[in-house]
Amino acid sequence: MASTTDKHNKGTEGLGESPVNKYPKPPFPKTPQEVPGTESAMNPKADHGEQSYRGKNRLAGKVAIITGGDSGIGKAVAIAFAREGADVLISYLDDVEDRDAEDTVKYVREAGREAIAVKGDISSEAHCQKIIGVAVDKFGKIDILVNNAAYQMSREKLQDIPAWEWEKTFAVNMHSMFYLCKAAEPHMAPGGSIINTTSVNAYEPNPTLLPYAATKAAIQNFTSNLNQLLLEQGKGIRVNAVAPGPIWTPLIPSTIPDHEHFGENTPFERPGQPVEVAPAYVFLASEEANYISGATLPVTGGRITI
Ligand code: NAD
Ligand code: MG
Repeated sequence: MASTTDKHNKGTEGLGESPVNKYPKPPFPKTPQEVPGTESAMNPKADHGEQSYRGKNRLAGKVAIITGGDSGIGKAVAIAFAREGADVLISYLDDVEDRDAEDTVKYVREAGREAIAVKGDISSEAHCQKIIGVAVDKFGKIDILVNNAAYQMSREKLQDIPAWEWEKTFAVNMHSMFYLCKAAEPHMAPGGSIINTTSVNAYEPNPTLLPYAATKAAIQNFTSNLNQLLLEQGKGIRVNAVAPGPIWTPLIPSTIPDHEHFGENTPFERPGQPVEVAPAYVFLASEEANYISGATLPVTGGRITI
């Protein structure tokens, strides 16, 4: 807890704590990891709402698919969705993430909902079709598709970016969205919701993340365009995006060498926690967002997205 002499609470003693001070601020210890990274190796630990998220039955009886639901933002979304009453399929990439995925599944089941975890590479169309098939076999329908998994790698110079990495970044971040939306659409009833994770990098690209930032801009365009296509066809499926700012997840220590000061460049002077992003997905998935489609909701700790 920050002291009341902190600039964010100065002169307001006794009136409550600023949101700026609610979570740890950098500097953090240097804790590099191999891609894709795991929760257990993070220091400090991330908050996915395990102890704090309270559901209000806003997704009762819904079925959700969340890619990258083992860790980080996707894990917090899975916990929140389950506590709002949804059954959840999470997808994730790698054997090293088995423990993270098992942990997410545990929290979904503790909320009284059903959970399935499907491992594999979503840059393959066949694997994306498998994910949709497993969800339909198990739950009989899909209400919410959260396209959240992504790959990034920091590179200082253009010459440092291999062509395979450029292609992989687009395949994982962008092509998978097309594969998953296409496979899911026939199983989504009117009232369904697709939510794509973009980034503050779509607005203010970080030069050390050139391919990643380009995929996030493409995701913005895809989101607003697919929204028009599905609504014009009378599908009744809304399509939106969430644009996180810097969020403390395994993606960061596994792809950003200088993560000790991560998130310091926001007005909050700290990264967000996954639990602080999850409510945006709950809102966009819920009937409260009935008239919202083609929109992007920024969750950036005050970073500007105009
Ligand atoms: P994370 O590492 O916890 O989650 C990303 C997940 O993607 C991983 O758990 C991994 O299982 C999955 N994944 C990666 N490659 C895959 C592949 N080929 N096939 C299947 N799954 C694959 O990190 P996160 O930060 O929670 O990332 C979630 C989303 O948030 C991403 O789209 C990311 O771009 C976005 N985002 C993150 C930040 C941030 O600062 N952390 C900021 C803006 C946007
Ligand atoms: Mg992970």
